[in-house]
Amino acid sequence: MGRPEVLRERPALAGVWAAADRLFPVRVTRSWWARVDAADADDPLARQVLPAASELVAHAGDLDDPVGDRVRSPVPWVVHKHPDRVLLLLTKRCHVYCRYCFRRTLAPGEHEDPDPEAWRRAMAYATGCGAREAILSGGDPLAVRDAHLFDTIDTLRDGGIKVVRLHSRAPVTYPRRVTDALVAGLAARGPVWVVVHVNHPRELSPDVDAALARLVDAGLPVLNQSVLLAGVNDDVDVLVALSEALVERRVRPYYLHQTDAVTGNAAFRVDPHRGVALHRALRARVSGIAAPRYVVDPPDGSGKIDVEDWLARCTR
Ligand code: SF4
Repeated sequence: MGRPEVLRERPALAGVWAAADRLFPVRVTRSWWARVDAADADDPLARQVLPAASELVAHAGDLDDPVGDRVRSPVPWVVHKHPDRVLLLLTKRCHVYCRYCFRRTLAPGEHEDPDPEAWRRAMAYATGCGAREAILSGGDPLAVRDAHLFDTIDTLRDGGIKVVRLHSRAPVTYPRRVTDALVAGLAARGPVWVVVHVNHPRELSPDVDAALARLVDAGLPVLNQSVLLAGVNDDVDVLVALSEALVERRVRPYYLHQTDAVTGNAAFRVDPHRGVALHRALRARVSGIAAPRYVVDPPDGSGKIDVEDWLARCTR
């Protein structure tokens, strides 16, 4: 969806759009924008994708590598934090660029996809490091063509990887990407777990529901991860409605992430003590299958832990 069309509804953004776009692209799909309430200046779906002046100034706690990916990257396009799992960045491109994204400092630019030699090295590392599980990430791994995605999964399998996880927001941001050919190709290469990313129940429009149903009906396990975001879902009623809506769609709420403090996303950060209180209130109201874990990925690169354990560690 083009800038002029969005600016017709949000003219006040004209002043920050170009500067924010240079730091981290501004892109919105038509499907996503159709779910935005244009009359609501604080609409939680608009807030996730539209640039804001707060992105352009420094804030206390800003980090360029908030989850320690760089210190855990043995070769470009690979992150390796745990012996049994390895993460591959298939691309830096996404269908929508979420303004809070912890990888926003990895903004696409000249090198938005690995060149063939870099990809060969990344795959050689992934299949030679002893991991049994590979996580396909990005950017959005569904921003690449099916042929490349399937070839990647096949190569990982041939290299001894037992389980593949596909971490994608495309079923939510660009649901038409979930074609019958994609679903059949993934199902034929199982076990492939699909981890989607929904933050607010209003993201679950009929086209998203249909995309999720295509994945689940094909036998692909589907999990959801959310990010706890100020002004979007830092409200227990919203979190409960989201968890219940996901379970109704046969999608298991998996993680609720503490927002990683990347440079540019200060407006979305929620105090973790408040996050713990929200998470406890959520758990008290939903069944076990609807309760995600509340986790943080600390800047030292040690990998995700429960926020309550992390807070206890920080005060020791
Ligand atoms: S789709 Fe995922 S990787 Fe892309 S900007 Fe949004 S959160 Fe970040």
